[in-house]
Amino acid sequence: MKIPLIDLKAQLETLQPAADIAVLKVLHDTAYIMGSEVQQFEREFAAYTHTKHAIGVGNGTDALVIALKALGIGPGDEVITSTFTFFASAEAIAFVGAKPVFVDVDLKTYNLDPGLIEQKISPKTKAIMPVHIFGQPCDMDAILEIAKKHELFVIEDACQAVGATYKGRAMGSLGDIACFSFFPTKNLGCAGDGGMITTDSDQLATICKALRVHGSGQNGQDARDILSGREIEHRSEQATDNTVYNPLKYYNYLIGHNSRLDEIQAALLRVKLPLLDTWNEKRRAIAQRYLEALSGSFYQLPVTLAEVEAVYHMFVLQSEERSKDIECLKEAGIATGVYYPVPLHLQKAFDQEGYQKGDYPQAEYLSQRTFAIPVYPEMSDAQVDYVIKVLHDMHE
Ligand SMILES: *Cc1c(COP(=O)(O)O)cnc(C)c1O
Repeated sequence: MKIPLIDLKAQLETLQPAADIAVLKVLHDTAYIMGSEVQQFEREFAAYTHTKHAIGVGNGTDALVIALKALGIGPGDEVITSTFTFFASAEAIAFVGAKPVFVDVDLKTYNLDPGLIEQKISPKTKAIMPVHIFGQPCDMDAILEIAKKHELFVIEDACQAVGATYKGRAMGSLGDIACFSFFPTKNLGCAGDGGMITTDSDQLATICKALRVHGSGQNGQDARDILSGREIEHRSEQATDNTVYNPLKYYNYLIGHNSRLDEIQAALLRVKLPLLDTWNEKRRAIAQRYLEALSGSFYQLPVTLAEVEAVYHMFVLQSEERSKDIECLKEAGIATGVYYPVPLHLQKAFDQEGYQKGDYPQAEYLSQRTFAIPVYPEMSDAQVDYVIKVLHDMHE
């Protein structure tokens, strides 16, 4: 039996013919940039995450960069985040010129340990970026309390956790601003790159909308005023210049990006969003079967906090004999993935930051032991049984 980590073809089949129709409709309508599909998907995604604003962007990494910039974070600032995450979390912080300050993670949940945050706070700290890793929400009450006490912003990296909840509250609605990715293998994936920023703040939303289109237009003008601390004032004389399609389109107020959610991707995401909860439910059911069948076995299993509903973007377990196990699973036709083999403080790209081996022992320990086994909504019971059997047989 061959079992991949995720089966996008199986998923696409369940979406036919709706997916084809939605994509072709955009192709034929020719409103390719920021058309009605993007606008409608933004409204639907805001409703889904219980947030006031959702701003579509080109990918999850850009979402993080734009969110950081919207908060005014840049050179001289520090942002606290996990060292056991995908590179982009810290890359975005470094990209805006700030310093990523890492914290170690909890060995059971793989999420950043709130008890280790305060010792990393300095006068330069501007924000905390919790990453809801593998689809499990961080201990947000603890993080939000620390943020409040030290007057720090909270940027959720929710790229792996769309649809998860913490004490009944949706990912993306807990911090000041949150970032999502629609990379094809994420729980809500598109047919290419895509991303989203959510926030309840009108001002942050205005800045994000400006930054995704070169800092131009009315949003650009307003964003510049917000960032410089001026009251927003609408300058009506320019807005009434109707000699061009959009009078402010070629007036630029900030150095921004070209990072919009693609119209075709938005159309496809609108087909998928109504199915997300069912898919996440299936992932949870498969994870539950793994947890029950493998409890007390050779492997260390992920622990989920009682107050969260995780969405198991990955099912990541630990083994003392990882490379041997991965090899055996491969021979049995079962795909695995190692998340993450190098904690971020040991990445070559951050060698200027002066981190050493041994600085974050938990993350380093996990990086030698963790691996992901298949979990995706279209997995059959027989496939799940097979994975469990092979895992058991390897360490009888
Ligand atoms: C996928 C991911 C990102 C980046 O998203 P892209 O859309 O690939 O740019 C950022 N952070 C985490 C935790 C991710 O898993």
